[in-house]
Amino acid sequence: MNQHTWQRAVIKIGSALIAPDGRTCSTEFLAPVAQFISQCQQVGKEIILVSSGSVAAGRQHIPVAHRPTIAEKQAMAAIGQMKMMANWQQLFCRPCAQVLLTADDLRNRTRYVNIKNTLNQLLKHGAIPIVNENDTVSVDELKVGDNDNLAAYTALVAQADTLIICSDIDGLYTADPRKHSGATRIERVDHISEAIMKLAGGAGSSVGTGGMVTKLQAARICTSSGITTCIVNGRRQAVFNTLLTNNPDGTLFSASGSPAQARKLWLQHTVTVRGALHIDSGAMDALVQHGASLLAKGVVGVTGDFQSGDAVEIYASGKLLGKGLTNYTSKDLLTIKGLSSGDFEAALGFSRGAEVVHRDDMALTGISLKKKSD
Ligand code: GLU
Repeated sequence: MNQHTWQRAVIKIGSALIAPDGRTCSTEFLAPVAQFISQCQQVGKEIILVSSGSVAAGRQHIPVAHRPTIAEKQAMAAIGQMKMMANWQQLFCRPCAQVLLTADDLRNRTRYVNIKNTLNQLLKHGAIPIVNENDTVSVDELKVGDNDNLAAYTALVAQADTLIICSDIDGLYTADPRKHSGATRIERVDHISEAIMKLAGGAGSSVGTGGMVTKLQAARICTSSGITTCIVNGRRQAVFNTLLTNNPDGTLFSASGSPAQARKLWLQHTVTVRGALHIDSGAMDALVQHGASLLAKGVVGVTGDFQSGDAVEIYASGKLLGKGLTNYTSKDLLTIKGLSSGDFEAALGFSRGAEVVHRDDMALTGISLKKKSD
């Protein structure tokens, strides 16, 4: 068995578990998932659920003899999404929170930051975020398309350390176990090579969109960003105990580095800089000595024209200190620089939170931040 200690995970539940007959929602396989999520909350582990099933759950209300058109499928999703959410909510004492995303939302920097902040608030307040693609507004070219990839992007935006994909088979096999009796499960994959991708074959169940291919695509996206990925059989209740005790029973795809390291490398080397923030010595001390976030109070100058979510350089006394993602636009910062966060509302009419650059979104040049998780 694989040992993997985790703290914040995205768990993807596919249509095959939500609507096993392909027409209506069922709680048959969801009760163990809900119990697992509640147990995670009790031990301080954080979970974001990515749930499919809206199209399948709405199918019986838009009966068509032919293969459904896009509009018919979107109508099914609009009905089914409500049923699917209601299905989940009845299994939890805590509030479930609906988060509907499109590929466009994930590409747009400002919306990306808003999604991240919303997910953090939901987790902080003990709610269960339930993410799905916003199928009613997503036309094909704007779609992520399948919930395996959507779950991978959700794990990135939520800065999760783990992605758990619940399937209806036990993991990745050396051949399709439904056809080849000699097929064996692969316990651990350290590198998702082309040979591994070839093992995926075609689509799996007839209910959901993705087969093993999209699961491996999701694993590739996540592992290259420091997020460990597990494919497990969500129909087997015992699997959830193994997840809870950090010994996932399935196929584990190991991550290269930690999410924090991967994020800092990405920030340092990949992201395009759109402007700069100049900070005073007090703020520099807070950043370097205490691994703190950058607050508006310590910002003395703003250059460039940037949006929230953009990367900016951080300077102290004219020296480059590092890079970070800003929560505020350059225009907002010209207004709030030097202010305490309690004054943001009065100055801007809104607040995006106290941090101008959160410490998780910051990479200091040549300095390792003194931070618990670093
Ligand atoms: N968003 C789709 C739905 O809720 C599911 C896509 C998938 O199965 O991957 O029906």
